[in-house]
Amino acid sequence: MIIFKKRTDLTAYLKQFSASKSIGFVPTMGALHNGHASLIERATFENDVCVCSIFVNPTQFNDPTDYNKYPQILDADIEFLTHHRLDILFAPSVDEMYPFGLLQMDRYNLAELENKMEGKFRPGHFQAVCHIVHQLLLSVNPHNLYMGEKDFQQIAVIRKLLQLTNSTTKLIPCPTLREESGLAMSSRNKRLSVSARKKAKLLYEILMLIKENQDRDSFKKVRQKAMDILADAGFYTEYITLCIADTLEEEEEFNSNKKQRLLLAAQLEGVRLIDNIAI
Ligand code: AMP
Repeated sequence: MIIFKKRTDLTAYLKQFSASKSIGFVPTMGALHNGHASLIERATFENDVCVCSIFVNPTQFNDPTDYNKYPQILDADIEFLTHHRLDILFAPSVDEMYPFGLLQMDRYNLAELENKMEGKFRPGHFQAVCHIVHQLLLSVNPHNLYMGEKDFQQIAVIRKLLQLTNSTTKLIPCPTLREESGLAMSSRNKRLSVSARKKAKLLYEILMLIKENQDRDSFKKVRQKAMDILADAGFYTEYITLCIADTLEEEEEFNSNKKQRLLLAAQLEGVRLIDNIAI
């Protein structure tokens, strides 16, 4: 595995591949787990060369505590990536990605996409995500970009970013990897106590419970029941939203004729967890 810290070095190295060989790219914030590995394995299989980046982007955290507590374990990640036979790792510093300071960011017209669900509870989050992904794409110039459906709204936002920037990169959404318990794998799970980690599987169970009740009750009613169960178990629920999968337009009711997606965010022990399933 070759490790790059500087954008110019990475771009110069990748130039040799861009014409004749395909580059697959997996951007991450590190603290890697098997969910990340599934993206890397797919990108490696489907491309001539696979690039993974590790960069904990400070501007996309609304809460400084969340940023400071985000697990940063580069040495362990390098071991993990070596084991998974990654070709190229890009691990830049904050100064490298923000040479003109953290306030120097482009603005993207994401319209309604940035104000709902994650955007509503994390103002400015998706602008910062777009900024960093755009900068990473300029450095890597990949043919294929692999992102997890675990961050379902992020996929819609990045699809929009690719449109806005007339990018030729193809976005490839990948399914969510789960623990045996059903809990979606996430770097944030590392911050949960042993008992909270056991409890956190309730999020997936709740999504499944709502799905299973779609023919029996109204969405409003099942959602309220789900909120009550989560509150009783000690979760603080930010949202449980039903929407059209492609546009993320909010839906009031289940509709089996439409491709719908159910998304939620909830906090447990102050750790923010998200998950979603197809309905
Ligand atoms: P992160 O390091 O959390 O920013 O995630 C980097 C990429 O890995 C994003 O595209 C995520 O959607 C994806 N990812 C995170 N968790 C999972 C998971 N459990 N299954 C599949 N992909 C994931």
